Formats: sequence, structure tokens, C-alpha cells
Amino acid sequence: MGRSTYRAEAENHVSILNRARYHSDNPTNAGAHRDNTNRKRILIVEDNDLSLMLLNDFLVIHGYETLEAGHGLEAIKLTQDNKPDLILMDIQLPDLSGLDATRILKQDDQTKCIPIIAVTAFAMPGDEDKALESGCDAYITKPVILDNLLRTVDSFLSPFSLTGGPSIINKSAKPPITVEM
Ligand code: MN
Repeated sequence: MGRSTYRAEAENHVSILNRARYHSDNPTNAGAHRDNTNRKRILIVEDNDLSLMLLNDFLVIHGYETLEAGHGLEAIKLTQDNKPDLILMDIQLPDLSGLDATRILKQDDQTKCIPIIAVTAFAMPGDEDKALESGCDAYITKPVILDNLLRTVDSFLSPFSLTGGPSIINKSAKPPITVEM
């Protein structure tokens, strides 16, 4: 079948289970995967190279286009130049914090409508408030549970967004897949 050629690249079991539901275009049309015009684009801001690679691969496998930034200033520049559909924003970065980068983007009329999901390792009381005050639209903590990440991303970008979708799919009773960062 047509879909099998698309699946030829390395994938794991979970990604195959989830693809049809999360692909943001026409899930019945394998050709849609090669047509970039309708794919949603996510900027991943993460200074840990391995985490960046894992998040990138995960989102690409689930039908998203990605951009990558390793620090805050690069994230701002890439956002202004490319207008991604969503930003996954690490909070601890080598230059600006993710919160400062978020404030700058949310004060700019050209970029303020782009949803920003904060990703932070230091989940302390009050951190969520700080993230939301800076303008972040959602907040997830590390280690990132990939199903939760996908559900959050999906809630902003997918026309098929269904509350509780991933938990329905995840009934194979595998433990959640997490990314330590
Ligand atoms: Mn970091």
C-alpha cells in the first residue's frame, strides 16, 4: 500500500499507532505527507542537543514540520523570519531565558498570536504562574511525557483535536515514553 513506503524510515511502534490521529492534514492520503503546504510548523527551542533531536524526530514522525533553535535570540529571529504555527520553548537557555524570549515575542504584533508551550525542568510552586505571566499559552514539565506533549501540541494545531485522544490510543498499556533533559 502507499502508506508502507512512507513508513520505510525508522519508526517505533508508538509513532505508527498515533500517526493517523495526529497527522494534521488528510489522514487518509499518504501523498499529503510529501506536500508541505498544509503541514503545521513547530519551532523547537532547546539547548540540549540530544533532547532537541528527540523532540524533533518525534514531532516529524507525527506529521509536523520543525524548526530548531538552541538559544533564545536564535528563537526570536527564527520566529520573526518564519512565523511558525507553534513554539515549544525550553525555559533554561544559555542566553535569554525562555520566559524572556516569550515576553519579547508576545509584545511583537507580528508574533504574539503564535502559541508558546513552555517546557521546564524546575517544576517549583509558582513556575506555572511565571510561565503564564510571561505570555506562555501552556506549560509542561520535564521529563517530557511524549503523549502529553503531543496532546498539548495537538490541542493547538490539529483539526482532529480530541480531549483524551492519546489516552484512548495508549490502551496498549505500554509505559509512557519520556524524554529526560
Ligand atoms: Mn535547557
